[in-house]
Amino acid sequence: MPVFEYLQETPAAYYTLMGVLGLIIGSFLNVVIHRLPKMLQQNWERECRIILATPAAAGEINETYNLIRPRSRCPHCQRMIRATENIPILSYILLHGRCSGCGKPISIRYPLVEALSGGIALLLAWYFGFTVQAVLALVLSWALLALSIIDLDHQLLPDDITLPLLWTGLLVNLFGVFTDTESSLIGAMAGYGVLWSVFILFRLVTGKEGMGYGDFKLLAALGAWLGWQMLPQIIILASLCGALVGLMLILLRRHAMSRPLPFGPYLAAAGWLALILGRDLNALYVQWAWTP
Ligand SMILES: [Zn+2]
Repeated sequence: MPVFEYLQETPAAYYTLMGVLGLIIGSFLNVVIHRLPKMLQQNWERECRIILATPAAAGEINETYNLIRPRSRCPHCQRMIRATENIPILSYILLHGRCSGCGKPISIRYPLVEALSGGIALLLAWYFGFTVQAVLALVLSWALLALSIIDLDHQLLPDDITLPLLWTGLLVNLFGVFTDTESSLIGAMAGYGVLWSVFILFRLVTGKEGMGYGDFKLLAALGAWLGWQMLPQIIILASLCGALVGLMLILLRRHAMSRPLPFGPYLAAAGWLALILGRDLNALYVQWAWTP
């Protein structure tokens, strides 16, 4: 294919393509982060009503609400956002971070997620080069980014993302893209099993639930993508960072000790680091362990 040859021989074109793709998907991730939890909530409420056989509340609007419809609106004045106002990052700068209808500030999070997504795409393009790994690593990164922010907002890691991520990880490594099939399969089972055991033990000892099932599924997905060999460093890094941040928040009295902190963002970040640095870190650990 001449297009592939061109991209392979012209790094500038390849990087530009990946960067722009990252920005566009970042914009879509903002929609997913904002809407998926609401869609799930709506579904649960609908199912509960069916089970309990209660009629819908008066005045309830039953309009279509999914990742595509309705079009995005300003949360303050409900003004429809035009396509020209929806260009990643650029629109935010041109609009000076304010809605062109009511002048209320637009959350800085939208351009930040877009920039992060674009930056990750560039970094992976550079790290993996023009390979299948680069594209697939991008898919994993986008899922991890969306999961992290949804978990921060709602303390929820939706099955709609974690489970497809798990199956894709197994499928990808059926062809040995990131690790061999055996390591991937063991990784998926061990990832789920380890956190599940910690959860049960913690509950037996303290009577509290310190994690959610979403965390087990996320670590299972990371095990499927990266292989069981990466699980120890992911768990260690995520726990250390989680404990540090949690301690800081409690010391600053920003967080009550009884409320559980979301663990998903730390798992996701540690998993992403393992994707890039995992082999080097493991080699380093082995070196340490073997040095007398
Ligand atoms: Zn507005």
